[in-house]
Formats: sequence, structure tokens, C-alpha cells
Amino acid sequence: MQKYNDKICNQSGQTSIFVKKDNNLEGTVKKSTGSWYYVEDTNGEEWACKIKGKFRIKGIRTTNPVAVGDNVKFRIVQETPKEGLITDLKERKNYIIRRATKLSKESHIIAANVDQAIVMASLIYPETFTLFIDRFLVTAEAYRIPGIVLFNKIDLYDESLMEKLERLTNIYTKIGYQVCTISTKTGENLDQLKSLLKHRQTVIAGNSGVGKSSLINEIIPGSNIKTKPVSEAHKTGKHTTTFAERHTLPFGGCIIDTPGIKGFGLVDMHKEEIYHYFPEIFEASSDCKFHNCLHKNEPGCNVKQQVEEGFIDSGRYRNYLSILQDNEEKYR
Ligand code: GDP
Ligand code: ZN
Repeated sequence: MQKYNDKICNQSGQTSIFVKKDNNLEGTVKKSTGSWYYVEDTNGEEWACKIKGKFRIKGIRTTNPVAVGDNVKFRIVQETPKEGLITDLKERKNYIIRRATKLSKESHIIAANVDQAIVMASLIYPETFTLFIDRFLVTAEAYRIPGIVLFNKIDLYDESLMEKLERLTNIYTKIGYQVCTISTKTGENLDQLKSLLKHRQTVIAGNSGVGKSSLINEIIPGSNIKTKPVSEAHKTGKHTTTFAERHTLPFGGCIIDTPGIKGFGLVDMHKEEIYHYFPEIFEASSDCKFHNCLHKNEPGCNVKQQVEEGFIDSGRYRNYLSILQDNEEKYR
């Protein structure tokens, strides 16, 4: 078997000692396109890898057995350009999945080992609707992944949008979500966001144009991701990539960008399950008269009561009804 030299740093950080090591390395999947998996090793070097043999997860059929965020072992195939062969997949903490195509029985894993999920929004140019935010949070709850709401472009908000921002911040904070309000343009509150991201693997999603690329460029100097002029940001071109990509953060941790993925992931939910993922509705539901209450029009519904009394936000409740209705239509 071929042997490779590995660098070892001495205490002052200089690379000075070289030792022999076998050619098995460990790393994390950064990106995957078809049959290639780009793996970042523990020294930050990137390797284009293929998969050896079969990796199967019990119970699901996936188009990609190894996903972005996965920790893998791989064997070096060649040094220039760097190519490897993935031989081992470490156990996953969790993973986010969607159906490969609309009617397919196969699934596609969007990301693995996710610590938290950010929905990036803006109140203007373009406006993110709260239904988009709430759908995202419902999915995050279903995966038991902590959700964070991030509002960008606050430099553009006038007085009335600032009021709206404050109202929404209060609503989501009260439910228990972290809320962060930033401007990638002026840099306002970016430090606060960075401390949320530090040492964690974070999935980020947002509607096109909210400033995801700008944010990544801002917090990872030198990443040079192409941003779009606002006028074009709404148009989703045919050739926009739909591959998730993991970006290592210089201060520790990483963000997994999920372009072109509306909301994130997909969970097949029973209609009775949806309100479980609205924490404040779930809490109120314990005092509904009927145990199978869907909180639509049932008598003795404590959820409706709390909406009327202003304890549950009426916008959140409307979004719950909307998600419920979509679900009922889908399974009719
Ligand atoms: P993406 O589609 O989410 O990746 O959005 P981009 O990062 O490409 O940004 C879309 C447009 O919004 C670009 O023209 C950015 O310059 C602009 N933009 C991003 N963040 C901000 C911000 O905080 N304030 C302002 N005024 N513009 C921003
Ligand atoms: Zn009820």
C-alpha cells in the first residue's frame, strides 16, 4: 500500500515534523454533484472523492448515500489533483431530506449533522412572507432542529417597517426562537450573528434575493460568491444550482447554504401532527375540549380562544390554518 507523509505542527504552529502515516484521512463533505463528493480534510484541504461500495441507511432509499455535512473516512487515490475514495461514513446525528423528484420513492439528503437552521428573511426588496418563515420553522420543529429567524437589510427599513420588525421579533422571541436582525451592507449586528454561528453546523435557507450570498461573503472573507443585483434577485434562472454547499467559518463552525430549496427539507406530516410544530399552539391545545381538536372551528377550542384574546398571534394562527389546508388538499 502507498504511504503518505503527513504534516504535524509543533507548539509554535510551525510545520516542522514529518511522520509517515497511512493514506486514510478523515473529513467532512462540503458539496456533492452527481457522483463526486468534495471532502474537506481536517487540515482544510479539499479532495474530490468517489464512493466505494454501498452506503445504505435502513428504511430509506436515497439518491445520495453520502450528504453535505457528513463525516467520512477516505483513502487517497492521487495527490495532484487531490482525489480520494470514501470508504466509511460516520454515524449521523440527524439529516434533512427531500423527495428526489415529485413522484419518486427515492429521497435526497440535503444535509446531515445539522445543529441549527436559519431562515433568512427580509421585510423589503424582496419581502419574505411570514408563511415562508412559519413553514420553515414547522419543518425545523419536525426534525427537532432549533430554528433561528434572521431578518436582513434593516438598513432599508423605514419607520413603519421597523415597527413591523419589532412586532415580529417579539412574536418569535416569545415562542422561544432566536431572532437576529442584521444588515450585511452596514454590518450591523453581524457580531451577534457570528456568535450564534460559532462552532455549530448551521443550515441556512431563504427566498432568493434576501442576501444569503452577501452574508456568506461578509462573514467569510475571500469567499467571493456571486451576488445578484436586486432587480434580478427575484428571477430564479433555469440554471441556478440546487446543490447544498458547506462553507467553513474562519471563527469555527460552518454554514450549509441550500440554494433553490424552497423552505428546507420535507416531512410527510399527518394533519393532526402539524400543530405540534407550532409550540404556542401545541401548548394551548392541552386545554381544548376535544382531544382530536384541529383548532379550526371546534367548540371549546382553547387555541381559538387564545387567538381571540391576543395570547397567540393571529398571523401565526392563519399560517397554521394555511399549512393545514395545503396538507388536507394534498392527501384528499
Ligand atoms: P441571495 O439571492 O439571497 O444570495 O441574495 P444576494 O446576496 O445576491 O443579494 C441580493 C441583493 O441584495 C444584492 O444586490 C445585494 O447587494 C443586496 N443586499 C444584500 N444584503 C443587503 C443589505 O443588508 N442591505 C441592502 N441594502 N442590500 C442588501
Ligand atoms: Zn383546539
